[in-house]
Amino acid sequence: MFSLTIALAGSRICRPGDTIELAILKPSHHSRQWGVDFQIFSRKTAWRSFCTLCAVEPTQTTMKPHVTVIGGGAIGLSLAYELLRRGYRVRLLERSEIGREASWAGAGILAPAHPDHSLHPLDRLAGLGSRLHREWAERLRNDYGLDVGYWNCGGLYIARSPGEAAALRGQADSWEAEHLSFRKLTPAELTAKFGGRLATSPRVITALWTDEESQIRNPHFIRSLAAAVMREGGEILEQLGELRLQTRGNRIWRVESASGWAGECELLCLAAGTWTGQLLEQLAIALPVEPIRGQMALFQIGQPLPAIINEGSRYLVPRKDGHLLVGSTMEEAGFDRSTTELEQSQLVAFARSLVPELAAREPIRSWAGLRPASYDGFPYLGAIPDWDNLFVSTGHLRSGLQLAPASAVLLAELIAGGGDPELLRLLSPARLGRHLDG
Ligand SMILES: Cc1cc2nc3c(=O)[nH]c(=O)nc-3n(C[C@H](O)[C@H](O)[C@H](O)COP(=O)(O)OP(=O)(O)OC[C@H]3O[C@@H](n4cnc5c(N)ncnc54)[C@H](O)[C@@H]3O)c2cc1C
Repeated sequence: MFSLTIALAGSRICRPGDTIELAILKPSHHSRQWGVDFQIFSRKTAWRSFCTLCAVEPTQTTMKPHVTVIGGGAIGLSLAYELLRRGYRVRLLERSEIGREASWAGAGILAPAHPDHSLHPLDRLAGLGSRLHREWAERLRNDYGLDVGYWNCGGLYIARSPGEAAALRGQADSWEAEHLSFRKLTPAELTAKFGGRLATSPRVITALWTDEESQIRNPHFIRSLAAAVMREGGEILEQLGELRLQTRGNRIWRVESASGWAGECELLCLAAGTWTGQLLEQLAIALPVEPIRGQMALFQIGQPLPAIINEGSRYLVPRKDGHLLVGSTMEEAGFDRSTTELEQSQLVAFARSLVPELAAREPIRSWAGLRPASYDGFPYLGAIPDWDNLFVSTGHLRSGLQLAPASAVLLAELIAGGGDPELLRLLSPARLGRHLDG
């Protein structure tokens, strides 16, 4: 593939930005080695003239491959956006509507993590995710006027039982080792920070405050990414129904949809959340991805709480418009994403036990989503062994929203031939070894 850097000489009929038609006549004898004589025609002026293009330099560019991404959640959309920004051509295929599964259902918490000092490589990825969220939020606003609802609201971590207090001590130790800033709040400070809106009984044994917790409004994040992908020249195809992967040797060469669409693919990335395993089954590859249901309840409380509150695996996430999310459960219920009375009542009881004013209110909405779980708790991110053009990014379980930009960068770097080797080794689907064969 050649791209031509051209300098127009001897033509008065066009200016930069004009639409012109060029007809190559012959190599020019009086220009430099790569010069050619052209007939040039300007639609604007309707002038035709002959001229010599000189200093025509053939620059050998390697056209970046065309990437097909399957799955329009946070992981697939972030990957599409990152690849487009790196100059790839991208098409994203979604069987139904983009961003209506786990990425919509989640809370959007960006938990404290440090990209450089984290002890575990996966926490490093989470730290990178937090840093990129801040950068992407700014860039999406500056470039396109899009708002992902990024809010560095800070986070409160509390313990109201001895077990929770012990776990929080461990949390504090690792934050300290990772240079994350946090401090212990006295009861008076806790009362002041939340304007006396938190319950005093049962007693809070430990309260840790960190400025390093943020949130995104995940439905806004998804919508913004989809808009940015389109504006960067990407293609998003929705409502395709089930997809069939067609193979030739060790390559996926074509994808066909139940709706009748079909397209060839150069590189294929599977980011279909908890359904990724089902897609791979078509290739007789057994990559275990289990759906872990998470239920949520939503209150409207008027004056928003000032920060996220975490207790054990439960949390309250305030939105600036007065919505308050209560989450969440971890359930194995197959692919059933209905809500249940028992779990909903437990979420509501948890919320009311922390914020007494909720006693007078009922949740305005509830829902459930299916988190994609890998067999060992780490995402699967990388090339599928023994296949020439097949990549995967899934299994992000409880942190897929936080990890989405960082996973996108890591996979884009891998596709370009780089990437953090330690992380790529840890996350590679090849770690399943022979278990990958169906
Ligand atoms: C209740 C709850 C709370 C959460 N809270 C947080 C949080 O606070 N912070 C955080 O970081 N993470 C959170 N998560 C986790 C996070 O939401 C997920 O890890 C993340 O959204 C996974 O993104 P994904 O793109 O892999 O999957 P999904 O969002 O599920 O997207 C997969 C997409 O692929 C499509 N698809 C599936 N099969 C096919 C197919 N065959 N062909 C084409 N398309 C297909 C689906 O329709 C879907 O659009 C939460 C999750 C839940 C459920």
